[in-house]
Amino acid sequence: MRHSYSLRLLLVVLGLVTLVQTATFFAARAVILDSEIENSRRELGVAGEIFTELLFARAQQLQQSTQVLANDFGFREAIASADAETIRSALINHAARIGADYAAVVTEDGLAVNLNGTSGSPAEAFANLRGKSPIQIRLINGQPYELIIADVKAPLPIGAATMGYAMDRKLAENLKQLTGLEVSFVAANEARNSIYFSSTLREDQARHLPGIYETLNDLDGVQEVSLDDERMLTLSWRLDPESDPVYAVLQVPMEDVLGPFDTLSKNLLLLNIAGILVALLVGTLLAGGILRPLRVLTTAARRITGGDYTAQTEVQGKTEFSELATAFNTMQTAISEREKRIMEHARQDPLTGLGNRSVARGAIMKAIQSANTEGTSCAAVTIDLRRFKEVNDVFGHQAGDNLLQIIALRLLGGVKEKDLVIRLGADVFLVVLTDVDADTGMTISRRLCASIQQTVELQELDLSISAHVGVALYPEHANESEELMRRSDIAMQEAKQCGELIKLYQNGTDEKHLRRLSLLRDLKEALAQDGLHMCYQPKAALMDNDYIGAEALIRWNHPTYGPQNPEEFIGIAESAGYINVLTHWMLKQAIGQLGFWHSVNLPIYLSVNISAQDLLDDSLPGYIADLLAEHQVPAQHLCLEITESSIMEDEQQALAMLDRFKKMGLRLSVDDFGTGFSSLSQLKRLPVDELKIDKSFILKLDESDDDLVIVRSTIELGHNMGLAVVAEGVENNASLGILTQYGCDVVQGYYLGKPMLPEDLGAWATRWRTVAQQQSM
Ligand code: C2E
Ligand code: CA
Ligand code: CA
Repeated sequence: MRHSYSLRLLLVVLGLVTLVQTATFFAARAVILDSEIENSRRELGVAGEIFTELLFARAQQLQQSTQVLANDFGFREAIASADAETIRSALINHAARIGADYAAVVTEDGLAVNLNGTSGSPAEAFANLRGKSPIQIRLINGQPYELIIADVKAPLPIGAATMGYAMDRKLAENLKQLTGLEVSFVAANEARNSIYFSSTLREDQARHLPGIYETLNDLDGVQEVSLDDERMLTLSWRLDPESDPVYAVLQVPMEDVLGPFDTLSKNLLLLNIAGILVALLVGTLLAGGILRPLRVLTTAARRITGGDYTAQTEVQGKTEFSELATAFNTMQTAISEREKRIMEHARQDPLTGLGNRSVARGAIMKAIQSANTEGTSCAAVTIDLRRFKEVNDVFGHQAGDNLLQIIALRLLGGVKEKDLVIRLGADVFLVVLTDVDADTGMTISRRLCASIQQTVELQELDLSISAHVGVALYPEHANESEELMRRSDIAMQEAKQCGELIKLYQNGTDEKHLRRLSLLRDLKEALAQDGLHMCYQPKAALMDNDYIGAEALIRWNHPTYGPQNPEEFIGIAESAGYINVLTHWMLKQAIGQLGFWHSVNLPIYLSVNISAQDLLDDSLPGYIADLLAEHQVPAQHLCLEITESSIMEDEQQALAMLDRFKKMGLRLSVDDFGTGFSSLSQLKRLPVDELKIDKSFILKLDESDDDLVIVRSTIELGHNMGLAVVAEGVENNASLGILTQYGCDVVQGYYLGKPMLPEDLGAWATRWRTVAQQQSM
């Protein structure tokens, strides 16, 4: 972006300069060319005039000397006496003296003496010469001469003397020296079949002169004429219109005319290029000058983006840029201050002023380091407040905030200065204790726990809150900070699960925890991908051969680890809050199956297991009702087994839910009866139909007197309360006999049948009835 802008600026400047320079160049060139040619024309014209004058001056000179000869007494006498010898010698002398190329005399009497030996009659020649201009241009023997004719008088004309110069190459050369131009003479005989020329031109050029003969006469002033492809500025005229057609041709090659022009335009071109280069230089400097402040600002912006707020941005001078630089500096300071505040916020919990989660790892790392150097241990204590949400809900967020602030202060007051208190989340704190072993760590944690539990006066109400606390030590329980933090959290979770206030981490718990996590993940996947199925374990009524019952039991065949213990994965699902989903799925399968059995005339009574958390699931009654209706199963054929302990967890809520189930017409059973500690008065309040004696009392019934006593009294107790009694875990005939003798209503166990696939239950029922009928007979 920056590059393109400066480049563009430079290009614009350069483009403009180049445009102007080029235009000037061509305009100047045209003007120079015109004036150059015009000059040459003028020069040529002037030269033509000089040329004419020269010829004329020569002629005049010749005329005088010819007149001298004509006036010479001896010469006149020789003519009068027709003394040819004397005439000849006089002519020779005279011609030699004045350098004439031609000399001739013609007398009245017809004597003709011609040094050049012209043919034709003397009389004719005489007549030709006389009576015309004293200066004539004549072709003699095909060659042009400038002739002067002078009468010889005694006193009457007795003859005429003629002297002349040849218009040859020598003359042309002389004239060239005077004018500086190429000089040519071109002439043609009357028939125009032979053209003469003499010229200063190079021979190869001169050869072409006859070719332009015809054009010579038509030339109007100075014109360009091509001579064998060479362009010549040419001036030509007929020397004497009244005598023979002889043309003088003055020429200058265009090359010579344009020679200076070429140099000039070359210089001009160089000048232009120099101009463009200067423009380039100036443009670059200019662009740099304009862009330098911009560049400074861009660099500053980049620096600020990179988080460097130290340097000040400076732009020289008092321009908009320098104002912008000042604005940059102000902005930079503002950003840096804001960032500092944000950083503080990022590391600090604004409510309590404690460090937040982001400092936890660093704090533990520091504690570990100092434990290493001092050869001591340190501890991470995770504190999770109980029922803090209720405080928020009941007393409002302001009260909740105040409570947290008070607890933060109490925690700070309960630790050494070197120790650290961090607020990990809404109602979770982490205390990092330095220089402690397991005992002192637990002691301090207990003290902290007690200080949390002290009543707080909020809105004129006395409020008390408690916490679950988990303690893990370095190096006893973990090797590094992350692990130590996690294990302290796990210990806290354990405390929560066991319903204890404080728990020290036990080695191996983390691994168990991890296994539970991965099992939970796999369980969710299994549910989504049909990896679970239901099995059914038969139940039989001892006094009623028509009764067929079954308990629905879930099965999971893990793709890698094989069949899983339902007690374990159900427990995991319960502690992960996932059991509701599983229960819904299981009920759907079980009631669907029940519906099928009913439709094929197997009126089975089916028991399903419900967890403590299901008793909090408000949607469950409606869900079951819908399934029963959908599969057309009478409600009394479905029995919900609820463990004694799960009812006791939240008794009120459980009772309300059980009432709803009861009203729907469902059967209710207290599962694992005998393992919990429900009192008789509690049991009396439950709207249940049966007690299911836990299998631990039944398995060895035939061997244990204690079990015999317990089982007998439990059966009696159940019957006294109007409840049916079911025994599970019946593994042999002896136990079955005892239960029959005690009046147990229903039995379930491996002796009758193991949990089986639903399609096998019909066959089992037939078999069992046969056996039962035989025994009763
Ligand atoms: P539970 O409700 O007490 O189920 C009876 C358990 O005793 C079953 O174990 C059954 O196979 C076993 N059992 C029955 N007769 C005998 C016997 O003669 N000898 C022995 N040694 N054992 C016998 P399973 O299927 O392993 O289930 C274990 C527990 O898993 C169940 O105890 C129940 O608490 C839970 N569970 C099983 N399926 C479900 C379910 O669909 N939902 C819920 N919430 N819990 C389930
Ligand atoms: Ca059960
Ligand atoms: Ca049981």
